Amino acid sequence: MTDTANTGFIGLGAMGAPMASNLHAAGLLGAVWNRTASRAAEFAAAHDGVTVCDDLADIAATSSVLVVCVSADDDLRAVVEAVLPHMASGSLLIDCSTVASGTAEAMAARCAEHDVLWLDAPVSGGTEGAINGSLSIMCGGSDDAFAAAQPALQAMGANINHMGPAGAGQATKAVNQVLGAGINRAVNEALAFGESLGLPMDKVVDVVGAGASGNWFINHRGKTMLRGEYPLGFKVALHAKDLRICQAMAAQAGAKLALSDAVLQDFGKLMDAGFGDEDVSALYRVTRGEV
Ligand code: NAP
Repeated sequence: MTDTANTGFIGLGAMGAPMASNLHAAGLLGAVWNRTASRAAEFAAAHDGVTVCDDLADIAATSSVLVVCVSADDDLRAVVEAVLPHMASGSLLIDCSTVASGTAEAMAARCAEHDVLWLDAPVSGGTEGAINGSLSIMCGGSDDAFAAAQPALQAMGANINHMGPAGAGQATKAVNQVLGAGINRAVNEALAFGESLGLPMDKVVDVVGAGASGNWFINHRGKTMLRGEYPLGFKVALHAKDLRICQAMAAQAGAKLALSDAVLQDFGKLMDAGFGDEDVSALYRVTRGEV
């Protein structure tokens, strides 16, 4: 049995910090670790009763549930290999990073060798969803892992689904990232078109955002894009990483991702120009011909 009140959190970034904060609010968070130690210290100073661990072995040994939210596949692999030797038999590792489904499958197999339950649990909903605890969480793993993860998942998200065995959560997230790229592209095209027509664009965003073409992206990013502001958010470099994962998965599955391919090319231009750490809505820099 996993003691969920003893949850440790690894990776206090734009998503991880508010997710850990919600675990704390639910009375589940025991300890945190972050590669840049100052971030963990800041988090603990703002959250009573949370222990800052000095290293990954420490947080692994003292937590019966570990939630990980780091950047990319190699980062996840490094964290999993560092924690596994120190995790107790029967404990649970929940990975909320976005990585390839093959990486999740490989990490699940490594966990099984250590008698640790694995759940890939990538999230959608942006930093706003992470702060509000309203994330959509797509899970892959055994029924036992999904059941054991419920208290933590419910503290962090609002729409929690078990998609299948290990890797199925990440495969679902890949579909989500393709959709996000296409919506970003469509919003870019529509805003530039509206501006070229000389329309009152803030009003246009309100009007179309409330109709059948409304979507999260235009509602949360449309007006800032028009002002040339790109508040983070979700970094260009991270979505580019996701789209490369999607391309590899599509190549294997024989699927075509024309929109994602085009967006990835434009993200490449942004990253080359030094905008990789900006929000994905900065795609409007390319649409406007600034990059
Ligand atoms: P972020 O703000 O860049 O934070 C990344 C976190 O991972 C930081 O805590 C960083 O530590 C840690 N990290 C990176 N590499 C590491 C390594 N090798 N070892 C240990 N820790 C490492 O990124 P984020 O926006 O929170 O995204 C985190 C994950 O969630 C990504 O996989 C992303 O694709 C996914 N995601 C993001 C969003 C979003 O809207 N931002 C939405 C859904 C999913 P340092 O503090 O030391 O850098």
